[in-house]
Amino acid sequence: MSKKLAILGSTGSIGRQTLEVVDMFPGEFEVVALSAGSNAALLTEQIRKYRPAVAALMDENYLTALKDGTAGLKVEIAGGLEGLTAAATYPGVDIVVTAVSGRIGLIPTLAAIRAGKTIALANKETLVAAGSLVMAEAKRCGVRIVPVDSEHSAIFQCLEQQSPVSRLIITASGGPFRGKTRKELQAVNRDMALHHPNWQMGAKITVDSATLMNKGLEVIEARWLFGFGWEQMSVLVHPQSVIHSMVEYQDGSILAHLGQPDMRIPIQYALTYPDRRANRLERLNLIGKTLSFEEPDLETVPALALALAAGKRGGTMPGVLNAANEVAVNLFLQNKIGFLAIADLVEKVMSRHRVVDNPDLDQILTAD
Ligand code: NDP
Ligand code: MG
Repeated sequence: MSKKLAILGSTGSIGRQTLEVVDMFPGEFEVVALSAGSNAALLTEQIRKYRPAVAALMDENYLTALKDGTAGLKVEIAGGLEGLTAAATYPGVDIVVTAVSGRIGLIPTLAAIRAGKTIALANKETLVAAGSLVMAEAKRCGVRIVPVDSEHSAIFQCLEQQSPVSRLIITASGGPFRGKTRKELQAVNRDMALHHPNWQMGAKITVDSATLMNKGLEVIEARWLFGFGWEQMSVLVHPQSVIHSMVEYQDGSILAHLGQPDMRIPIQYALTYPDRRANRLERLNLIGKTLSFEEPDLETVPALALALAAGKRGGTMPGVLNAANEVAVNLFLQNKIGFLAIADLVEKVMSRHRVVDNPDLDQILTAD
């Protein structure tokens, strides 16, 4: 029987690659629900090709365009956050791929969990803002959350739950500005930041990779996904992005996951889990490759340090870090602030925030 999928953020980088994985396994997956932010044109194309039962568009200004483009097709069209939630909870859906960018994914993800759907999670901001709540709800509902993020997929695959782990080693490419001084970073603009050496991704996460905020968000994401303490989390810069992350066990053995930097591999694993399936994607060729490792530079670009501090402080602080970062990255993408101002802004907002411990959903959303 085919697995029925809902893809939140189907028009984005992860969403489109999820559909490529669906294409790689004819008959195995059925696309039942799709959603986008405002890209009605691409969503229309996807509806025509995959014939979902429901499609949602967050920005209701484009709903008419979507309805016109899909007139005559048997598809339910929904708008706004309610629409996204309807897509995430649609009856019969087995797996919800959360591939929206930003904290906006939180409400639909919680709804999907409460509806008993397996979550293939790419949308890390949701776990950063509300990891405690989301994981508790998944546990209560008996729902599995399978990571899509490459580092977390790597750790997920390297974890032998029964053996004692000493630490998780989350690898980081270091982004396009590795080795640059603060003075050099003052001159960095949007186009330079959007050029990542190893991965093709959406704009927000590409900027997060350049500031290393992405790695900070990923440490918080890993903390919630795998339940280890902060002292067991470490970050290692590995510019070649061949090792996607590692788990060190108490006997000193380290298990590493290696592969091509191709998100379709972890997406496929999340969709076929617990099975591992053959595919025709390009194989990793290690001949002639040199793998190198460095300590992250926490001073030059302080976002990683800020994220680690927010994670350790807990309560509403990680959500506030994330919200400030979303706004700051947006301003940077509009050429309204400089590169270094992103972390400065986040730091300022964090310093003014009064943390609420053990927050409920309302308190998390208010802090956001
Ligand atoms: P993109 O920006 O490429 O895509 C984001 C998707 O979310 C699009 O479908 C977009 O719709 C939709 N969207 C954006 N804003 C909203 C909104 N306010 N409401 C509803 N939908 C919205 O992002 P990525 O695919 O790169 O990243 C998605 C998530 O996956 C992020 O959390 C990221 O951190 C994570 N991730 C991404 C990786 C990658 O390689 N890209 C790797 C690991 C994790 P529209 O097209 O209409 O704007
Ligand atoms: Mg990642």
